[in-house]
Amino acid sequence: MDMIYFDNSATTRVDEEAAAIAMEMLRDTFGNPASLHYAGTQAYLRLTAARHQIAQLLGAPTESIVFTSGGTEANNMAVFGAVSSFRDWEGARVVTSAAEHASVLQSTAALGELGCEVVRIPLLQSGNLDLEAVAGAVTENTRLVSVMAANNETGAVFPVAEIAELVHRKNPGTLFHTDLVQGFGKMRFNISDCEADLISVSGHKIHAPKGSGALYVRDKARFRPIWYGGRQESALRPGTESVPAWCGMGAAAGRRMANMRADYESVSGLRALLLESVRGCAHIRVNSPDNALPYVVNLSVLGKKTDEMVSRLSSDNIFVSGGAACESGARSHVLKAMGLTPETVAGALRISFSAYNTPDEVARLADWLKRFDGEV
Ligand code: PLP
Repeated sequence: MDMIYFDNSATTRVDEEAAAIAMEMLRDTFGNPASLHYAGTQAYLRLTAARHQIAQLLGAPTESIVFTSGGTEANNMAVFGAVSSFRDWEGARVVTSAAEHASVLQSTAALGELGCEVVRIPLLQSGNLDLEAVAGAVTENTRLVSVMAANNETGAVFPVAEIAELVHRKNPGTLFHTDLVQGFGKMRFNISDCEADLISVSGHKIHAPKGSGALYVRDKARFRPIWYGGRQESALRPGTESVPAWCGMGAAAGRRMANMRADYESVSGLRALLLESVRGCAHIRVNSPDNALPYVVNLSVLGKKTDEMVSRLSSDNIFVSGGAACESGARSHVLKAMGLTPETVAGALRISFSAYNTPDEVARLADWLKRFDGEV
């Protein structure tokens, strides 16, 4: 099908190389990495190489990477694992932002039901986060601060390096977690610049197979697992490894590492072209902040409804979304947290690019947006 795919924050097409490697691991190198024979050690070596490629993209030691099934699992491991790493966690405080992905919002809410005090820092109207407010919420009892690096609905980039520093200055014992799922491989992020204790990433957002992700754990000795079983993944994520998906993720991470700057520039060009094309439209409002990652453009056509626009675009094989895939159908909690009007929230579209997109595709989308604008 000749499709124009602008929903890369939801998921991405798998790179040819990542698909080929996953297929090879399915077909040929299928041993259990824990087995001591040749088939097992081959799988183990390939997994170690993939772990190294993911670690490199974060500037992290290879051993600090724990593979998971994706970003949701990494976030749950980070939230529950961090808090249960302390013995006295009842009554403990957890700080997070109103803009987080459902996997952080819901896992912290579950901790609230178990007796933790959960503080959610509101968003500024610009879509940015007041970092002083985050640091101000850190008390002696704060076990975890979790703030995402880049927002999945607006592309807003939060200053997590500064936040981590402020948090640790206020309480060196507080663990800092960042959900880097939307920024991984798209923006420079190196653990030497950011004192994060825990970092979540996901494979299928960077052109790797679904069912792949990872959690960076700075200090494994201090971290508790949430599942128990075998010794895989340093016993922090027991269960037989998903070798094909994880090796595919390694290949995709390697490719992002090699092309990050070129991809960023090409996607910035697409974003600029889209915004320039709709600049004169009276009813179009851009919701993404100016400092957003170019990969995500959130805009609203005031007076139109998201679902109608998504479905008309889809009938022309142009795929965009209204917001986060896992909350499809619901009105965006991020746009609401920015204090946008109900009309703005009701007519929002999330257009998310990858380096596979072209200027011609953007021009086709822009024609549709101008048509929607003219219909109001
Ligand atoms: N965190 C963010 C910011 C996301 O955008 C997503 C997915 O949309 C996730 C976490 C969950 O990742 P996964 O789909 O790999 O579970």
